Amino acid sequence: MSDGCIICRKEAGDAQLHRLEVWRDEFWRVTISLDAEVLGFAYLEPLRHIPTIADLDGPEAQSFGAVIARTCRALKQATGAPLVYVYIFGDGVAHLHVHLAAHRDGDALNSQMIRGEIVSEKMPDGFERFFSREFPALPEADQRNVAEAVRRSLAMP
Ligand SMILES: [Zn+2]
Repeated sequence: MSDGCIICRKEAGDAQLHRLEVWRDEFWRVTISLDAEVLGFAYLEPLRHIPTIADLDGPEAQSFGAVIARTCRALKQATGAPLVYVYIFGDGVAHLHVHLAAHRDGDALNSQMIRGEIVSEKMPDGFERFFSREFPALPEADQRNVAEAVRRSLAMP
């Protein structure tokens, strides 16, 4: 447990964050928000203090895929929502928490993750692309350089 970490405080933290624990195993717990904009807004968190997704290792890393899939299935079943949005930000509380948001068309959620005035553009195959007027796309050459650096990093054992 990390001192001062609200997520490590488990149920005491839940009371403060206004949420309810609905499941736990030896590595993970799931809570449901009691003051969300949509029904079935959940948090999946490791019991152990793991600061960010990049720090995920050990048995939590091994079980993550199965646990997140199972939780999303339960959220879909309980709410009837066809989709569950999954977000990990990491710049708020420094204890890994995955936001799982049951989502239906027309509810309070959308898929925009960009600041500023959002404009949309219809792509030739019909899907809609969103971008921000204040934050236009960065130079493609820079993006290609980063892509190559990630490729090199992932190629290392
Ligand atoms: Zn913690």
